[in-house]
Amino acid sequence: MELDDHAEDLASDLGVDKEEVKSDLQNLVEYSVPVDEATQSLRRKYGDDSGGGGGTPSAKDIAEITPDDGNVTVTGVVLTAGERSIRYQGSDHVIVEGRLADETGVIDYTAWEDFGLEPGDAITAGNAGVREWDGEPELNLGESTSLSFQDDSLEVPYEIGGEAELADLRTGDRAVTIEVTVLECERKTIDGRDGETDILSGVFGDESGRLPFTNWDPAPEIEDGGAVRIENAYVQEFRGVPEVNVSEFSTVTELDREIEVGSDTSTMDVGDAVGTGGIYDVEVVGNLLAVRDGSGLIQRCPECYRVVQKGQCRTHGDVDGIDDLRVKAILDDGTGTVTVVLDDELTERVYGGTLDDALEQAREAMDQEVVADRIRERIVGREYRIRGHLSVDEYGANLDAETFEESDDDPAARASAFLEEVDA
Ligand SMILES: [Zn+2]
Repeated sequence: MELDDHAEDLASDLGVDKEEVKSDLQNLVEYSVPVDEATQSLRRKYGDDSGGGGGTPSAKDIAEITPDDGNVTVTGVVLTAGERSIRYQGSDHVIVEGRLADETGVIDYTAWEDFGLEPGDAITAGNAGVREWDGEPELNLGESTSLSFQDDSLEVPYEIGGEAELADLRTGDRAVTIEVTVLECERKTIDGRDGETDILSGVFGDESGRLPFTNWDPAPEIEDGGAVRIENAYVQEFRGVPEVNVSEFSTVTELDREIEVGSDTSTMDVGDAVGTGGIYDVEVVGNLLAVRDGSGLIQRCPECYRVVQKGQCRTHGDVDGIDDLRVKAILDDGTGTVTVVLDDELTERVYGGTLDDALEQAREAMDQEVVADRIRERIVGREYRIRGHLSVDEYGANLDAETFEESDDDPAARASAFLEEVDA
């Protein structure tokens, strides 16, 4: 059903102006309030308490809930409960997100009211709304939900609390607890929803891997660097990669012990890696099929640093481009395809010369394509092992390479390289 239809229904049910209801509805939905919750809250606002519902829905096991269920009654244990602030109708609204489990399964929930949920609580949620998120059902606990706490605790085969390692975190995870080392951290001033504000951004590491973070309310413990424990963080996608979000509701404590940062990264099939929707640190091995246009010697806009074509920047028009080197190459391992992007340093290595050498070669040939051609000759058809940041968007998958090595599939050579590492 379209928003317009919901507004029409509400307006006729409540006898109020449709445009007014529609703008209220739009506001709520824009701030990610589910449409059912939004219409119920507008019914209350305009004084109809019927809610349109009839009777209490039947009790269901969590494993049996599907996105098609309208409303359900569920009994389970709160595994995690994390506060987060969203804004609608000009004011901040605190919601609680987390996971609820019974002995059959686990489901994500969002509580739009302050029910005082804590990890470990056994609850029955009567008339909880069900919505679909990414193909999976989720619970909405709102004003129309009757929530009661059980006296007896409930045994569930899941761990209470949100302890996690960085490598296990996925976009959409909420109320997570991590213990990490701050590897990089910088303070930035951004144009936030309340005007200019300072945030911290950088990279966390633990034994399992590394992930970028944003700290929306700068915590001195993070800015100081070192090892920290963070409770109630959430994971959101930024530029195609999962990112840890540390908010005003997160608790940050300095640890007086070290958190080792693992240097291993997971090696994955290209198909599996792309299927995750984006990974900050991943290694793939595949065949280099082609070097794409826009590789080799290129020019960038001095204003925005994007690649210019025929002296034209898409945003800044006629500009004096800055010379640069890069490679965009297609890598395939039989399970999938990714565009590998090499920066200027890695490009110098695969080209076998510096930017000045490339400019010289292009001048002599009176054609800058010769630089890309030489790179093609040197790398197409070979197998490479590449580690970097993988982002996936509607235009495809890009792997920003940090390392780019010809894959060495000679087992004897691999063994001796390993021994050298051990000796070192
Ligand atoms: Zn520009």
